[in-house]
Amino acid sequence: MSTLPSDLHQFSVRQLTAGLASKHFSSVELTGHYLNRIQQIDSQLNSFITVTPEIALIQAQAADLRRSKGEAGPLTGIPLAHKDIFCTQGVRTSCGSKMLDNFIAPYNAHVVEQCQNAGLIMLGKTNMDEFAMGSSSESSFYGPVNNPWSLDRVPGGSSGGAAVVIAADLAPLSTGTDTGGSIRQPASFCGLTGIKPTYGRVSRYGMIAYASSLDQGGPMARSAEDCAWLLGVMAGHDERDSTSVNRPVDDYLAALNQPLQGLRIGLPRQYFAKGLDNDVREHVMTALKALEARGAVLVDIDLKTTDAAIAAYYLIAPAEASSNLSRYDGVRFGHRCEAPTDLNDLYRRSRTEGFGDEVQRRIMIGTYALSAGYYDAYYLKAQKIRRLIQQDFLKAFEQCDVIAGPTAPSVAYALGAKQDPVAMYLGDIYTIAVNLAGLPAISAPCGFDTTYQGSTGKPLPVGLQLIGNYWSEAQLLSVVHQYQQETDWHLRRAPLAMNPESPDSAASSNSSTAREA
Ligand code: GLN
Repeated sequence: MSTLPSDLHQFSVRQLTAGLASKHFSSVELTGHYLNRIQQIDSQLNSFITVTPEIALIQAQAADLRRSKGEAGPLTGIPLAHKDIFCTQGVRTSCGSKMLDNFIAPYNAHVVEQCQNAGLIMLGKTNMDEFAMGSSSESSFYGPVNNPWSLDRVPGGSSGGAAVVIAADLAPLSTGTDTGGSIRQPASFCGLTGIKPTYGRVSRYGMIAYASSLDQGGPMARSAEDCAWLLGVMAGHDERDSTSVNRPVDDYLAALNQPLQGLRIGLPRQYFAKGLDNDVREHVMTALKALEARGAVLVDIDLKTTDAAIAAYYLIAPAEASSNLSRYDGVRFGHRCEAPTDLNDLYRRSRTEGFGDEVQRRIMIGTYALSAGYYDAYYLKAQKIRRLIQQDFLKAFEQCDVIAGPTAPSVAYALGAKQDPVAMYLGDIYTIAVNLAGLPAISAPCGFDTTYQGSTGKPLPVGLQLIGNYWSEAQLLSVVHQYQQETDWHLRRAPLAMNPESPDSAASSNSSTAREA
């Protein structure tokens, strides 16, 4: 048995592939290392809804066997965590809801299947806002998720658990989903990289539907390079999702070093206007200047429809949700109330008991907006605005190659700080239009808010967002990769990840932990 490097959980995916290939460590050892960390640390974070150690170890043994027979792919034996929105055969798939607390999925989502085929090891299912509705991971039936940078702060949402497992080094890779920002905003709040692909790039088969015309799965990891590994596995055509696009998947890893020279980066003035925290603005601008110094050209652009995006989204998404969630009726699967007196009572009580407040609010808004008499005034109008938003982006892409700005208006806020739902919705201002247009976008760490002194006294991460034209995932990953070759924001560790025993007295996490492959 080899001695395991003590910082194994800080290895990049490339380092892990090298270590496994050279038999420096086995998948069983690597998986055991992560399972131990989860057991040791996660009670403070609540990032997992379900940990699956038995499955993980069986998969890891199989991976080691395949490797010994010379049948392994590069990722064979590397662990990951799935957002609990992806169906996993034989394993509870709750979507963060009491409604599905007892639901054992009878099949695997396409994404889960692809990961299994690549030899990735499932460590468990991550916590999330109920049915992916939220921006803070506080609406989960399983309780809120804490941010490892400061336990009194939210990790963002809805893929908060998926973000925290990476930020606390509980897994090297995780899957997330993004309907209005749920990969990018938690990546920003937790200091990671996450990419929402073009609509249709990743199959939605077996991904529990929230708003089907907006939902898209994508990877979360420390770096653009690590995201490139996982996106290559997740992306691809699947006949079982009629919106999955049959188009070759780019070689994201091979494309990581496209030249930045002459790249036109559009800065929408609406993304730097009132409402944006000064510290966030400064860090984002510093990052953009760094790209300019490497040959990129910054151009001012106008996205006039920015202000209309939240209103349009918060009609369209609830409208689709009200329809998608009608299947949870207490009859076929999911929560069923005790002793119903008749069919109406069964429906009403099962849904009242099974759904939390935010989900019920959205079902009511959506049902209202779709009702005869209101449809034209609300839903149809929102769809027209959606088209204008898309046209606005396409016009902007005549002036620039990528669009840049902050991912979120602020760093992670305190748990419980946004009790008013509208205040929470407003935080989605920079992410939501991207989903309405179906475009790809990435968030990457670009600095720390130095004004913040919270429970750990450590500053909180700031995220830079880059939005690309359709199918430009390779370009977005490449721009961020090159930025990450010169900066170490993505390698900094949260206090809790460094010193699980006493997060508050942890040594400062800095670039001394940085490592190159
Ligand atoms: N915050 C947005 C919402 O609550 C986006 C969520 C998501 O992307 N799943 O709808």
